[in-house]
Amino acid sequence: MHLRPAALSLFIVSIGASCSLAQLAPSQTDALSKLQASQNAAACSPTDASSCAQAAAKLMPLILGDSPMIENLRRLTDEIGGRVTGTPEMAKAVEWGVTGFRAAGVDVHTEKYTLPVTWKEGATRLTITSPPASNSQLRAVSEGWGPSTPRDGIEALVIDIGTGSDPDFARAGNLKGAILLVHSEIGSTWADLFNEYMRPPGIIARAAQEGAAAILWTGARERLLLYRHTNSLAGQIDKIPQALLAREDALKLARMVAADPGKVRVRLSMPNEIGGPIAQENVVGEIHGYEKPDEVVVLGAHLDSWELGSGALDNGCNAALVIEAARAVKATGLLPKRTIRFILFTGEEQGTIGSFAYVKSHTAELDKIRGVVIFDSGSGRFPGYSLGGRRDTEAGLAQILKPLGTWNVNQHTADASFGTDNFDFLLEGVPTFVANNEIANYLANYHAASDTFDKVDQRELKINTVIAALTAWGIAERAEPIGKRLTRAELDTLVKETGLDQQMRLLGYWEQWQSGTRGRKP
Ligand SMILES: [Zn+2]
Repeated sequence: MHLRPAALSLFIVSIGASCSLAQLAPSQTDALSKLQASQNAAACSPTDASSCAQAAAKLMPLILGDSPMIENLRRLTDEIGGRVTGTPEMAKAVEWGVTGFRAAGVDVHTEKYTLPVTWKEGATRLTITSPPASNSQLRAVSEGWGPSTPRDGIEALVIDIGTGSDPDFARAGNLKGAILLVHSEIGSTWADLFNEYMRPPGIIARAAQEGAAAILWTGARERLLLYRHTNSLAGQIDKIPQALLAREDALKLARMVAADPGKVRVRLSMPNEIGGPIAQENVVGEIHGYEKPDEVVVLGAHLDSWELGSGALDNGCNAALVIEAARAVKATGLLPKRTIRFILFTGEEQGTIGSFAYVKSHTAELDKIRGVVIFDSGSGRFPGYSLGGRRDTEAGLAQILKPLGTWNVNQHTADASFGTDNFDFLLEGVPTFVANNEIANYLANYHAASDTFDKVDQRELKINTVIAALTAWGIAERAEPIGKRLTRAELDTLVKETGLDQQMRLLGYWEQWQSGTRGRKP
């Protein structure tokens, strides 16, 4: 998962001429020629102002040359495959992560937390029972963390609820016992994906309140592509059964309902297997700082995925990136001033449960977490980071990434949103940096059977790994923290200014934020 708000407040960072970091000669525009030219540069030293440029020169050949990253990713996606948190595949993926850090020579451990519920889809079936149709089977999958239907399924009238707006509901009349069909637009942008998560909570609440039996969501991707969507973002089983229909089948059903209003009935059977609670783990690799070892920079990505495909774009490629960044930093032979933690979070797809657990168990340390860098948007080109609603970290970040100046990676945005593992760090006031990759083929394969190894852009992934490693290194290496920890009062302003307050209300986090059970205490 990775959601971005519809209205991005884009701003371009201007790189100040007063930057203290050494610049590479402007004539060296090619990354490889840059690194070759600087191979013999002196090692980073604690007092060396050009630390980032020298680190970049060492990181580039390690990452852009032969490396184990792509083979690591192949093993994760092809051999382990989809890895839903709480399943045996997730446990194998955790072992993959531990093995990867160990092979990189990086200290590694796992940290346990409790996943409240386990979930597995059963044999979902959706059949038109009336009027008789020669092609009565519709292609559908259960919503992730959706409840199970009764043993024989639910047989009910289908009511087309349009897009689920207030007028749509008012027009629809009595919904008691009915199965609702909700329309959607085809998604192609980050804003579309954001709206796919922001729209359903209101519809589900109203459907449940009016006694509807289930909801059928029209797929937002064409060509019969099924994908795992979840509307339950706290690891709990959702209020009413929901299935995602192949777009073409949903549109056929809508035409049938329009032709025969009040007559079309379906049977929805979703024998989902629900269990738990169960202990799960985040994987933590660590390179200790030599000067301020108790101050920490986190470079993270979620390791879990949905299971229709093998979770390559979301988010296997970036899990592999985190391990590779750790390997490369270690292999430079340089030690960072501050500690760098390379974290593979789990439980992300159920509502950033693993990273929330991490924040809770490291509360005493949050004053000393200097930055959290997250990659969770596939392998598209990287133009910059989302800075989580703040601008005070912008100048420092521009300095850090300056050695990559010709790559044009300093276009950062000041938006803040729910949707990936920076969320609970952000709400605690810790500076966060979420990679704003271009969408590339991410949405076309989102949570779908087609999210497989072959979709990953290996060249961009390697380039993104250099950027990730340098970012973590630079935040760890700066003389001063890149940004302060925000106070509750500052965070209250931030959530209002960014619209994060509206997101939290829609998604059901507002009460927790207000009461102080989530985020920095009032
Ligand atoms: Zn993701």
